[in-house]
Amino acid sequence: TPRVGVLALQGDVLEHVALLEHLGAEVVRVRRPEEFALVDGLVIPGGESTVMDRLSHLFGLAASIRSAIGEGMPMLGTCAGLIMLSDRLVDGVEGQRTFGGLDVVTRRNAFGRQTESFEAELDIPALGAEPVHTTFIRGPVVEEVGADARALATLHDGRVVAVQQGDLVGISFHPELSGEPRFHQHFLDRVAARG
Ligand code: GLN
Repeated sequence: TPRVGVLALQGDVLEHVALLEHLGAEVVRVRRPEEFALVDGLVIPGGESTVMDRLSHLFGLAASIRSAIGEGMPMLGTCAGLIMLSDRLVDGVEGQRTFGGLDVVTRRNAFGRQTESFEAELDIPALGAEPVHTTFIRGPVVEEVGADARALATLHDGRVVAVQQGDLVGISFHPELSGEPRFHQHFLDRVAARG
């Protein structure tokens, strides 16, 4: 069984842990470098990216996560997690840092107040024929997809809400809340493939 981590500094940690365990993974809640050292892949949950940024530095995790990304560790980031995996941000707070890894420009809080939360059925060919039920909660969008990354999913208006680069995947929405297991299964498959 693959042993994977969920970054547990802040955010909707429990839902990711439950889904990964349901899929048969051994899951470590990662708050400290010693815990991160135990895992072969990392899920970065939704929450608040500015807080994750500060806490990951405070807990001494940011540098280890960055170097693991450089070494190709599979990671899945949802919502604030996508922000953390983006190389460049629009509408970050002053001085906000990210781990990076995805060659994209991501805009925080991209949806207006009246549509802060909404759901949509999206076709995501990389996950198969069955449409994906998506839940957006103050999510980001990817405004530019660089040469090294590729879009996995777009909204009906063309905005990019899921991207992949190697074994890094970042998505604007919350499959852990809508009972959609395929992103997490794909993540576990990549972890297993790296052996
Ligand atoms: N708005 C949050 C941020 O900027 C992300 C929202 C979420 O993760 N549900 O980090």
